[in-house]
Amino acid sequence: MYNLNNANTDTLSLNTETAVNLENAIFDAQLFTQAAQLAIKLLETYLADTSIRGLALIEPQVLLARAKALMTKQHLYINALDTEKLSAMMVLLIKTGIQVHSSGYMGRQFSGVVPLAAVFDFICSVVNQPASFYEAGQLPSVVERLMADEFNRFIGWQNNQFAMVTTSGGSLANLTALLAARNAKYPQFWSKGSVAAGMRPAIALSEDVHYSIMRAIGILGIGTEQIVRLPMNSARQIEISKVATCLNEAVQQGLEVFCIVASAGTTSVGAFDALEDLAKIAAQWQCWLHVDGSHGASLLVSDKLRYKLAGIEQVDSFCLDAHKLLFVPAPCTLLFYKDKAKSYGAFEQQASYVFEQAEDSYTEFDSAKQNFECTKRPSIMNLWVLWALYGKALFADKIEYLCELSQAAYQVLNKTEDFETLHLPESNILCFRYCPANVFAGSSFDFQAMIRKQLRAEGRFFISKVEIDKRTALRVVFMNHRIELKHFCLLLDEIRQIGQALLKTYQS
Ligand SMILES: *Cc1c(COP(=O)(O)O)cnc(C)c1O
Repeated sequence: MYNLNNANTDTLSLNTETAVNLENAIFDAQLFTQAAQLAIKLLETYLADTSIRGLALIEPQVLLARAKALMTKQHLYINALDTEKLSAMMVLLIKTGIQVHSSGYMGRQFSGVVPLAAVFDFICSVVNQPASFYEAGQLPSVVERLMADEFNRFIGWQNNQFAMVTTSGGSLANLTALLAARNAKYPQFWSKGSVAAGMRPAIALSEDVHYSIMRAIGILGIGTEQIVRLPMNSARQIEISKVATCLNEAVQQGLEVFCIVASAGTTSVGAFDALEDLAKIAAQWQCWLHVDGSHGASLLVSDKLRYKLAGIEQVDSFCLDAHKLLFVPAPCTLLFYKDKAKSYGAFEQQASYVFEQAEDSYTEFDSAKQNFECTKRPSIMNLWVLWALYGKALFADKIEYLCELSQAAYQVLNKTEDFETLHLPESNILCFRYCPANVFAGSSFDFQAMIRKQLRAEGRFFISKVEIDKRTALRVVFMNHRIELKHFCLLLDEIRQIGQALLKTYQS
């Protein structure tokens, strides 16, 4: 026991003057307004900038020095606010980022966010209401329920029978769902570890699942050697006709497949697995079907595109990243379970300081029991504000536009002689290669990767790359509606220029 009487009273006496100083110097409401207005001005200019730009790539050591130069060197007292320095810090952050609102941004899956959503994000930071416990984040807690019901309009589960939890990212959602799947099949795994399983628990998936699934399998103690690989068809979907054979072979090897992982929008090419067929198979084999819809399950909100997720109501769990195709700040992920009871199976918990013994109407809204995170950002608020004000139309229109743009870009590529397409775009991801007649097939010469690197250095367009059939391909992801077909054509021109220059350098 800590004895107050023995404590050094010097350290206990509070310096109230310091508190007053802090209040005046840093926590002052007007100072906050001043700083916030500075940010708003800069962001307004940033958002109004319609120029084509990718990334201003800076050598890390240079940026390190620049950032360090902005840090105070005296630590004895609190400085008055240096607005110039503050402004310089804000500018540095804005300028060094991938320009997600520009038509030159075609590289990653995080969105050019709807700026209005960020306003709520800002409020959430000031009022700091973590969302895992009702008492800490009351509105976020009820809003999660509201948004779950909104999405269920596109799924069709029975009210109150399903569950939705939010996580910070699709990776964490995948891990959480797979934990729930494992614990549903092996209830004693949590306490006894893998010996409780008796057999070798295995997970079936295709080569194109996101790497977070592999990590989850490692973390779960399943072991990557217990992965059953399901072959893909030419559209890079799980080849349904081969699944049963694979599962049979797994059984012969002493494996027990308790879960099939499918994708709704693969990261590489945006392919959608056939969920209805997989759900039938999962039911036959009595295994859990989890759908990683981080990228593409947002297509649910579109009447035109929802068919790609046909069968979603039959899957055990699926997730979607709202920070991708629902255009809110990262991270904001929604993880759905068909069976509410199973959502409580991912984690076991005993912590008297947060979990109540007796359930009441408040604790029923604590999402912490279903979620790994304890202190969690109330990221659902950003989605809610847009949904509450504009409904699904905002999202559906934007998604449909981006998917149509991908189709149009595919057509453009097909009409060229020097570009090769690799797949029909199923969503807003499109992979291709620049293959002019004069390119040679040197083994150590990764032409596509070099193009991508040079393109990034030029700073006008930002795209990504991906391995398809063990060869590098260029990859564009259309994440903001400012991108038009003409921008894609400009990108192709720049790729041609860069490619030809590279060929000159390396072939001479
Ligand atoms: C982006 C993505 C993930 C990872 O999600 P994070 O939100 O980045 O953690 C997982 N799966 C797929 C298919 C993705 O596209």
